[in-house]
Amino acid sequence: MTQNIDGLHSKAGTSPERLVELHGTNSLVECQTCRQLSDPEPHFRRFQATRQPPRCSCGGFLKPATISFGQDLRADDLRRAEDAARETDLAVALGSSLSVYPASTIPLQASRRGIPYVIINRGPTEHDDHPEVTRRLEGDVGAIFPPAVESALRTR
Ligand SMILES: [Zn+2]
Repeated sequence: MTQNIDGLHSKAGTSPERLVELHGTNSLVECQTCRQLSDPEPHFRRFQATRQPPRCSCGGFLKPATISFGQDLRADDLRRAEDAARETDLAVALGSSLSVYPASTIPLQASRRGIPYVIINRGPTEHDDHPEVTRRLEGDVGAIFPPAVESALRTR
């Protein structure tokens, strides 16, 4: 599960079945009327040529397929994240202040089942004082997480 909207998890090869982009993605645009998702490039080209707001074929306005502040999460994405929290045997929160609700509740839901909960972040998080946190590592995720995964894979 990611709160990132940059589409990098998909580009890195995470399958759509395993990936939950809880706050959407800016690699697609979504019609605000019929909810159809589409590639943004043709719409950008049309906007550059016409300077008219991008519209869907149904007439609805298009915007990046991200969740804006005040906008509800997609119910299916939230359900999939909660399902994953019920099934995982390890919760790792990477690079998040864990301050955005309800995304921040997902690793807590998982950890309350008694599984390990590790936080790696530069700067404080909202969960730092939670008793469910097994390990709290301070610093850059890119420097800490990959060697930790390599080490864990070597000891399996
Ligand atoms: Zn539409």
